[in-house]
Amino acid sequence: METRQLIDGELIAGEGERLAVENPFDETSLAELGTASVEQTDAAIAAAHEAKRTWGKTPALERCEALHEVATGLRSRTEEIARLMTLEGGKPLVENRDEVGWTAAAFDYYAELGRNFAGRVIPPIESTQLALVLKEPVGAVACIVPWNYPLLLLGWKLAPALAAGNSTVCKPSELTPLSTLMLAPLFDHLPPGAVNILAGDGRVGARIVEDERIECVAFTGSVGTGKRIAHACAERIARINLELGGKDPFIVCPDIAGELSIAAKGAAWAAFLNAGQVCTSAERFYVHETLYDDFVSAFVVEAEAIVVGDPLAADTDVGPMISAPQRAKVLAQVAGARDSGAELLTGGGNAGHERGHFFAPAVVTGAAAETDLLSEETFGPVAPIVPVASLDEAIDLANSTRFGLGANVYTRDLGTIMRCMREIKAGTVWFNDPLTDNDAGPFGGFKQSGLGRELGQEGLEAFQETKHVHLETMIEAKDWWYPYGRAS
Ligand code: NAD
Repeated sequence: METRQLIDGELIAGEGERLAVENPFDETSLAELGTASVEQTDAAIAAAHEAKRTWGKTPALERCEALHEVATGLRSRTEEIARLMTLEGGKPLVENRDEVGWTAAAFDYYAELGRNFAGRVIPPIESTQLALVLKEPVGAVACIVPWNYPLLLLGWKLAPALAAGNSTVCKPSELTPLSTLMLAPLFDHLPPGAVNILAGDGRVGARIVEDERIECVAFTGSVGTGKRIAHACAERIARINLELGGKDPFIVCPDIAGELSIAAKGAAWAAFLNAGQVCTSAERFYVHETLYDDFVSAFVVEAEAIVVGDPLAADTDVGPMISAPQRAKVLAQVAGARDSGAELLTGGGNAGHERGHFFAPAVVTGAAAETDLLSEETFGPVAPIVPVASLDEAIDLANSTRFGLGANVYTRDLGTIMRCMREIKAGTVWFNDPLTDNDAGPFGGFKQSGLGRELGQEGLEAFQETKHVHLETMIEAKDWWYPYGRAS
């Protein structure tokens, strides 16, 4: 198991504080590694600062080929990477295999996008002139990510950052560093320092973010950390791209009465995928009152059919949560809702597992709107269901939190689709197909869910600086220069 970091093209053991990585399935220790010391963090940033010159000048076609090679390398190691992701993250193996594939797809996508777009020609002021908009690399970019999709969220930053000609310093979560450290050999063919990977917690992250040689920070994580990063970057006007928390609504409209069982299946997947630890997990269900009772019954059946267990086992649907504190936070939210009158219809226990951070998928009704369960991010497998009398009420409630990452709606009605599409304040609105990502579709949040976008053309431009070039081909004095009001 690789525990060394990638600094300036070399694999180097961390000399900072020791970090123990736990297997959330059985709470055993998977590995202990040294994190990045202050000097090693400095060395990685210095290497990125140096490498941005060579990599930034590498022709776009060569960068494209290099990124395709990363994608091929990733795919060829799918099994071993996915297994390690499962051991350290607790997500079912089948989902981790998918994640490796999606990460490779992001490298392929940006390999092509990067060689296809370096700016545009715009109309000049005079016919003797040429006017260009050039897209240039920003420079040295920090890519800091959480534990729930460690490779995918890194790929959504690293691939476009490299495609645009930037160098990078990457930092995975302290809870899941191992699968990211395993990626180091995939970058062997890039100039040393173009990709650096450091291990450590928020203190290492903060050192990277606060360094003035880092010109852009691409971050996915909690709103609190996002705000700290925004503060640090404001000091020197460094670029930021923030993908933060969510509290996604899921609206079920009366016109789908005939397909209620499908909506309930989709709802259970949207709520419980990766034990509800998806930034776009559906965390609030607003169901038209005419369908409410049937939907709740169908949802409970779906929740109780989920196999909760060893994430390496082929028939496991949901593994453990990532950590004891994360599980405790979710338990507290459910307890808070119950204290204010909510009913726990199913789940909420440890699903029969004495060890591991297991949480049986839970369905809750009767929670008050002001409880944390309906207003703050849960990040766990809990589905609170609320009846609504109208679409107006559903949309108002959907827009009632400080978050605006994603939203789901089940309906066939075109008028409802048009209203939800325009009126829901969220970066993505999914109709009848929850949580499906598309490399070409920009992803990000309204309100406190973030700033900027990943994926799509926007996800490339997040790592490009824009330069306007104005070229006059005739060297002549202009008649609007001095002197004013008298002949020259
Ligand atoms: P977190 O904010 O605690 O940590 C995220 C990363 O930031 C980790 O690598 C951590 O070490 C690092 N970090 C912590 N403090 C830092 C600092 N001061 N400076 C720089 N780096 C620092 O988040 P988490 O608990 O790992 O992840 C869960 C959160 O991530 C949830 O809120 C979830 O919604 C969010 N998330 C968002 C998206 C999205 O795309 N919007 C996707 C997945 C997860």
